[in-house]
Amino acid sequence: MKNGFRADESFALDLDRSDPLAGFRGRFHTPAGKIYMNGNSLGPLSRDSESTLLRVLDEWKGMGIGGWLEGSTPWFHYAEKLGGMAAGLVGARPEEVVATGTTTLNIHSLTGTFYRPGSGRRKIIAGALDFPTDIYALQSQIRLAGLDPAENLVLVPSCDGRTIEEDRVVEMVDEGTSLVFLPSVLYRSGQLLDMARLTEEAHARGAAIGFDCSHSVGSVPHSFDEWGVDFAVWCGYKYMNAGPGSPAFLYLNGRHFQREPALAGWFGCVKEKQFDMELEFEHELSAGGWQISSPGILAAGAAEGALAVTLEAGIGRIREESLKMTSYLIRLADELLSPEPYRFGIGTPREGRRRGGHVALERKEDALRINEALKARGVVTDFRPPNIIRIAPVPLYNTYQEIWRIVFHLKEIIEEKEYERFSDERGAIT
Ligand SMILES: *Cc1c(COP(=O)(O)O)cnc(C)c1O
Repeated sequence: MKNGFRADESFALDLDRSDPLAGFRGRFHTPAGKIYMNGNSLGPLSRDSESTLLRVLDEWKGMGIGGWLEGSTPWFHYAEKLGGMAAGLVGARPEEVVATGTTTLNIHSLTGTFYRPGSGRRKIIAGALDFPTDIYALQSQIRLAGLDPAENLVLVPSCDGRTIEEDRVVEMVDEGTSLVFLPSVLYRSGQLLDMARLTEEAHARGAAIGFDCSHSVGSVPHSFDEWGVDFAVWCGYKYMNAGPGSPAFLYLNGRHFQREPALAGWFGCVKEKQFDMELEFEHELSAGGWQISSPGILAAGAAEGALAVTLEAGIGRIREESLKMTSYLIRLADELLSPEPYRFGIGTPREGRRRGGHVALERKEDALRINEALKARGVVTDFRPPNIIRIAPVPLYNTYQEIWRIVFHLKEIIEEKEYERFSDERGAIT
């Protein structure tokens, strides 16, 4: 982005012309007349997803219960099939990933499997800037073990309120640590943690490590097997575009298949024996053994097409173009939105290797109202307290011209003090 950058619209159009993923835009339905840059909260529907979902509906219509074995992807194996597809995005073997449950439920199930306070290692290390549900789940797992979260859940503090230093995490892992559980990408600032290094350091100190990759899978490549990560979870509805109500995913490193699932359920049974209806639980020796209940097959149908699009585009190309888009946005914001009277700052790390798929625009005053003004102009972004507007340009369906337009909307909103027309009250969902 350093060479030949210009802040005019025709430069954005030049970048669009050389975007190797431009052809994918027509595969997505985004809300008509809007600039949709909120795929980090809910990815849009692709035509592929629509068609696999409709196929499953047809199977239900035409086959009834027969779909469990006779669907074109037999429903009985759908969760494993989707897991195998997603494995290609995260550097795992197919049997190490399954589509199941929800993110929070999978955090419970896997931290329950790995947290072993009986060994004398009683602490779980997480981050002070983590997504709240992750912290709630960890606290309740510690309580279920009969211990006090105030003593045993240790949160790595942030120096700047935006990022977590890997060095600080490493310093805090000691002989009292059972488990380290961290996000891959922080949901507010968009900082990407060095998962390879954290895994190596946690293991060197005798602790297990897992990651919540809700904000990275589908946007950033992962190499879970190569890094030796113990487990990971992530949701399907953000950068994976698998739809509201999508199954979540979990990764379990193959060396742990013999462990006992903390939350057992009949869908985790050895598949050939599931319908023997024995009362002795014997889990499948794969990530599938960590399933609990019947999968949501309609949601699985939507996920299949979404995964196919991402695999076709290639996660390497997606990441490359995503970094170009976020660099472009940061550069434009530096140039046009940082001086008076605009006063926007960037809360996201500037080094590409430390950045996920979105940019956190910060502004001391009026960020909530400015986001409302953007919404009124047909721009879909989101606000996170206290002062952050998150913008997620996704190369599968966004363009450089849209990024350019958002920056110009923001300029006008400030110049015309348009935000003053909006209230400071936050709606139920932002
Ligand atoms: C989106 C997100 C979740 C969502 O949890 P659900 O159980 O799917 O509602 C959890 N953790 C992180 C880090 C997220 O970004």
